[in-house]
Amino acid sequence: MATEEEIKRLAYEIWEKEGRPGGRDVEHYFRARQMLGEKIPTPVLELAFLPPVLELAPVTTLAYCVKCRTKREIQNPQLTRLSNGRRAFRGACPVCGTRMFRIYKA
Ligand SMILES: [Zn+2]
Repeated sequence: MATEEEIKRLAYEIWEKEGRPGGRDVEHYFRARQMLGEKIPTPVLELAFLPPVLELAPVTTLAYCVKCRTKREIQNPQLTRLSNGRRAFRGACPVCGTRMFRIYKA
């Protein structure tokens, strides 16, 4: 079991290796925990540490597929951060494989 100190040190190393990006401290912290042997699915872990107001909101990975012209559940949704800082789910249409994404919002 890794200590909090070890986790933080590793998170700091990841942050330095990635060129010291801003606003991704939580992500680095949990990636460090994963690297030290914890098994946490990435989307679940990210969602678990969103601010409380977002945590209480229903999370949906339903998105519009431009090819099927209907809404479908994103296959293998990955929580990602857009250039404007907002979070979004990114993945593929389960039927036709077209790339889909949906802004994560409360
Ligand atoms: Zn589709």
